[in-house]
Amino acid sequence: MYAPAGVKISKDFPVPDRQRAWVLGSPGELKLVEKAVPVPKKAEVLVRIDAVAICATDLEIIYHGSPALIEGGLPFNKNFTPGHEYMGTVVALGPGVDEYRIGQRVTVEIHAGCGQCKRCREGMYTSCLNYGLNYGDVDKGHRANGFTTDGGFCEYQVNNINTLIAIEDKMSDEEATLVVTAGTAMYGLTELGGLVAGESVVVTGPGPIGLLGVAVAKALGAQPVILTGTRDNRLKIGLELGADHVVNIRKEPDVVAAVKQLNGGKGVDYVIECSAATSAVNDAVHMVNRGGKVCLAAFAHEQVPVDVAHIARNNIYVYGIRGEGKSATHRAEAFMRQKRFDATKIHTHTFPLDDLPTAIRYAKDRVDDAIKVVVKAKMNAVHKVAAE
Ligand SMILES: [Zn+2]
Ligand SMILES: [Zn+2]
Repeated sequence: MYAPAGVKISKDFPVPDRQRAWVLGSPGELKLVEKAVPVPKKAEVLVRIDAVAICATDLEIIYHGSPALIEGGLPFNKNFTPGHEYMGTVVALGPGVDEYRIGQRVTVEIHAGCGQCKRCREGMYTSCLNYGLNYGDVDKGHRANGFTTDGGFCEYQVNNINTLIAIEDKMSDEEATLVVTAGTAMYGLTELGGLVAGESVVVTGPGPIGLLGVAVAKALGAQPVILTGTRDNRLKIGLELGADHVVNIRKEPDVVAAVKQLNGGKGVDYVIECSAATSAVNDAVHMVNRGGKVCLAAFAHEQVPVDVAHIARNNIYVYGIRGEGKSATHRAEAFMRQKRFDATKIHTHTFPLDDLPTAIRYAKDRVDDAIKVVVKAKMNAVHKVAAE
């Protein structure tokens, strides 16, 4: 039985020594194997993973490797478990941990960082200067679960206490997996200055971060919030999450003119770019007014041409964000706890953990209009209880 030295456990939450875990083989290949249940160290807990959502970045990692970085290189054939948007229950405490208790439900953010570099000290742990340096004689202790350390497509994982967000019992497992997505949108708005009440915001791209970007901007008081995209079904969800206007760029080829018209002929104050479309950055800098701010939250797949002179002449600010820094997940969870928006509108499917390849196919091919697909280790058990 699991009883590592110095680790606090409870008979109410017995932990096995071994667990089921998906590991990445060659590109696109996932294998279900048995792994040891990891042991929390100082400032860490062991989380029993109750639900994990699939993110577009998981698909990037599984099929192309980057931005995961395992032992200094691509993550293939290294017994690496991907998955990073998970929630669960604390079942063991590392030495000295009293910030959380066994049995507590938590959701997680991804990046613990190294905790010792300049950026980590500034709260920018998603841009840790020691990213991926957690092995061999270069070990800086960096953790970004599902990127540089084992992630959540398994039953148990260790997490630094700084990556945990306590959640209320009323919040469902599925909703809790979406806190980090809303947290990423919140981080983008934080970096833009955060004071968006009464300011105009465009979100480009109705993926999960874009849709929750609309919700968070609206919850922060932005007016109007305009969402642009190519699919009417996603734009409709954007309206339900608080968008004042939507623009389908298939029907409105001049999206910059369409946005300006919706805002009284002026440009908007802020754009959050979540589409990764080739033309999106240049469109964004033309959508904002003079002195406006653009946040790039999507990873474009190629270099894109941008009218840099327009940016300089008009004093436009362009920010890149990586993930969910500056504890933005806690502010996002506070909005969700207050029911300021219903993040579950973007959750579409749930599968058992053993069916992860099916779940990934639904997310990748958008089968049945899938947006957020969740897998649950205890799904069969949950259903059995519900039927009794
Ligand atoms: Zn993600
Ligand atoms: Zn660091």
